Amino acid sequence: MLKPIIIPAKYNYIAVFLSLECNLHCSYCINRFGGFSPARPLLSGEDWRAGLGRIVSRPDLPVTLGGGEPSLHPDFTAIINGIPAELNIDLLTNLQFDIAHFMAEVPPGRIRRESPYASIRVSYHPEVMDLEQLAEKVLLLQRAGYSIGVWGVLHPHQETEILRAQRYCGALGIDFRTKEFLGEHEGALQGSFSYPGACDRRTMRQVRCRTSELIIGPGGDIFRCHGDLYDGRAPVGHLLDPDFTIYEGFRDCDCYGFCNPCDVKLKTNRFQIHGHTSVEITGASD
Ligand code: SF4
Ligand code: SF4
Repeated sequence: MLKPIIIPAKYNYIAVFLSLECNLHCSYCINRFGGFSPARPLLSGEDWRAGLGRIVSRPDLPVTLGGGEPSLHPDFTAIINGIPAELNIDLLTNLQFDIAHFMAEVPPGRIRRESPYASIRVSYHPEVMDLEQLAEKVLLLQRAGYSIGVWGVLHPHQETEILRAQRYCGALGIDFRTKEFLGEHEGALQGSFSYPGACDRRTMRQVRCRTSELIIGPGGDIFRCHGDLYDGRAPVGHLLDPDFTIYEGFRDCDCYGFCNPCDVKLKTNRFQIHGHTSVEITGASD
């Protein structure tokens, strides 16, 4: 018997990485920031159904399916349809999948909730994607009633194209938003971070850290942070451990300096309020 997993009130994100593999290869992919290997065992659709069915959350805190590219999971639509109706779902995708099949399997109302942004968030990557084709797919889904929008990363080399894409999509009635580029560009780390030095990957330091996110990897392992997931560090639990409960306190960490930008950046929370950071770290400046 699997105990319910009660999401703490202060938690801001439930991230479910169905697959870390991706069918695109963007040069700036944040997943590849550290010592990343995408090939991981995948939890079966049935196990995801059992594991995600334990989660007790709030209407404003959905389960966010992402990756890599989540649609690469062989049971992608069955996993979506197996998530209990009480849990809202958001989807992060590059939309490089068969949308006719998706529309036949997943009703629009299943991925739609009251929020200041779309529930299906499509990433546009000009290096590897065709904007016109992408916009066509988005419009098809939008006209069928899906809550969908597009996001572009303001990478220094692609800012002009992203802003052009935003105008193009805006004229078609597509919600297109931009997000800050996080990662290294010309030897310098780009982005706004709450803990300077956390991502410089020079020396590992001991700190104490606590998160406000539930991070679940492709095999059902639960991690302290994105950095642990991507770098293959030890998990702190497993979605199918019958006794798993969320520990809200600080944990020791000896990997400070090798954090992932996703964990320590200054960002907006689920209410779109800026100034939030996923983790709280003490001892970083001692
Ligand atoms: S689409 Fe996203 S996950 Fe895939 S390579 Fe590009 S940035 Fe990475
Ligand atoms: S200090 Fe960095 S690497 Fe360690 S748990 Fe926190 S975010 Fe992860």
